[in-house]
Amino acid sequence: MDEEGPDCGKADFVLLDQVTMEDFMENLKLRFEKGRIYTYIGEVLVSVNPYQELPLYGPEAIAKYQGRELYERPPHLYAVANAAYRAMKRRSRDTCIVISGESGAGKTEASKHIMQYIAAVTNPSQRAEVERVKDVLLKSTCVLEAFGNARTNRNNNSSRFGKYMDINFDFKGDPVGGHIHSYLLEKSRVLKQHVGERNFHAFYQVLRGCEDSQLEDLHLQRNPALYSFTRQGAGLNPLDSDERSHHQAVMEAMRVIGFSPEEVDSVRRILAAILHLAVYQRLFEWVVNRINCVMEPRGRDPRRDGKDTVIGVLDIYGFEVFPVNSFEQFCINYCNEKLQQLFIQLILKQEQEEYEREGIAWQSVDYFNNATIVDLVERPHRGVLAMLDEACSAAGTITDRIFLQSLDTHHRHHAHYTSRQLCPTDKTMEFGRDFRIKHYAGDVTYSVEGFIDKNRDHLFQDFKRLLYNSSDPTLRAMWPDGQQDITEVTKRPLTAGTLFKNSMVALVENLASKEPFYVRCIKPNEDKVAAKLDEGHCRHQVEYLGLLENVRVRRAGFASRQPYPRFLLRYKMTCEYTWPNHLLGSDRAAASALLEQHGLQGDVAFGHTKLFIRSPQTLVTLEQSRARL
Ligand code: ATP
Ligand code: MG
Repeated sequence: MDEEGPDCGKADFVLLDQVTMEDFMENLKLRFEKGRIYTYIGEVLVSVNPYQELPLYGPEAIAKYQGRELYERPPHLYAVANAAYRAMKRRSRDTCIVISGESGAGKTEASKHIMQYIAAVTNPSQRAEVERVKDVLLKSTCVLEAFGNARTNRNNNSSRFGKYMDINFDFKGDPVGGHIHSYLLEKSRVLKQHVGERNFHAFYQVLRGCEDSQLEDLHLQRNPALYSFTRQGAGLNPLDSDERSHHQAVMEAMRVIGFSPEEVDSVRRILAAILHLAVYQRLFEWVVNRINCVMEPRGRDPRRDGKDTVIGVLDIYGFEVFPVNSFEQFCINYCNEKLQQLFIQLILKQEQEEYEREGIAWQSVDYFNNATIVDLVERPHRGVLAMLDEACSAAGTITDRIFLQSLDTHHRHHAHYTSRQLCPTDKTMEFGRDFRIKHYAGDVTYSVEGFIDKNRDHLFQDFKRLLYNSSDPTLRAMWPDGQQDITEVTKRPLTAGTLFKNSMVALVENLASKEPFYVRCIKPNEDKVAAKLDEGHCRHQVEYLGLLENVRVRRAGFASRQPYPRFLLRYKMTCEYTWPNHLLGSDRAAASALLEQHGLQGDVAFGHTKLFIRSPQTLVTLEQSRARL
């Protein structure tokens, strides 16, 4: 890895002298102080939010990473984006980039840099349709942030929904479409915000950004303090002029994406109506669907065009612990358990299993497997979600308190579950109200109040029908279920918890089918300020993200592994015994001869079907000799 200089610490935690928390933190801190916010663990990128503009991005930086191997340049998001892109293009593999970390750690900013990289390196021939798709991909972020983000105590621009975006590529590697899945919008925010927090940006943008005549038309006044939903955050507004320019940017983005003037007008009216009235999620879902419609790959025929390959980018809420945690935090933390399990399975477990399968000596590394916590939440019949559904189906007779009692009864022996009733001496929980789950990331106490109501998530059918029958076509489109006949309506709708669980299971299945790349984001301090790394806070994140275990597995392991045929295909031209074809009996023998010629045989292990390369430097050497030809 060039250009970093000797005093910037190790660019890959795998190269630490010893794998201890102290060494890890020292390296993280040193690099952060030098403005090196990115560090690898093998192919996993660890990123620390700098809370300041660093000169790391833009066309020049992009050019430096384009077409390079991961290890040729200093660690960067662009390198990960490039690696995912190349894996997709070279091997026609669907890939995904999973970005995780707590609120304010920099996930959304990271996803934007990734998108910018992909937009910058594709479509050299400037095809109009591809340019259109790229424009929509980039602009969609701006629109979704207006409707789905809000200022919270932890992040001034916090995503209050999870987002997974697929980008479809044609055989040339150019983006031809995409699809956004959104998860669990925190709609309760419309009605109520914590002290110091605001409602979704869109409300303030409409109030501040509309022309006087438009406001008059909507029967609105400019001052957010006049409306109950925006009063709370009214004192926290950024400058009026900023809010106005954001509003202009969102309107422009909507126009570019292809929202019609009538639709934009309807959106404004509905925002206004919400300020007068309580239906935000439908508006949000409609906006997402609308963007998806314009991003749908157009006129593509798999027989003619070949199958599209996909890069997925996941930017989803991190683990949350508040003074009072409710159903929303429960869902969010369950989602993080699922993703952590996937991480364990893919990065840690698969790696060990592969060595065993390939007959390579392996020192086992202990890591905490959180499968038991996932099971506690989602197990059929007796998992917390199933028991909540049972409570919900019991037509109004079961209270939150009774639900808590049945949880206590069934999980009293579970190592990760407790409540005040089960642990009477623990005064940090309230009897009859709280239960606690020992998550992989830490203990969280949930207040059971409101669980049943939030899970039922009822909206009256009359109300849906009323809105479906509106003369405004945008409003109609948001309430297609208002059209259902009475027999369909009487079927019990799926609960919010079950819908969320199903969407998580599908998400994890989808991610598991792709080649994953990971970005692990760390928030340096709680004050949202630059140049301050709070060690205790970071240490906790390093712990729960399982980064030390990740380094251990990686060190015990190898930087790269490739099936022999693929290895030879890429490097056979660098050795006289293998070019153009070898006569050495087996691909394994040929790979061995090639490595011997380069003097690299000491850095590899020979598996049954794959070659394992220990250090990144060996790959760089091979790439260089290939480039010299
Ligand atoms: P949430 O889960 O609340 O949505 P998040 O992980 O998505 O949080 P971001 O919104 O990406 O967090 O980042 C929070 C803020 O930190 C940004 O608004 C920006 O001010 C700053 N920030 C994050 N990453 C960077 C970066 N690479 N360079 C400069 N500032 C950054
Ligand atoms: Mg975010």
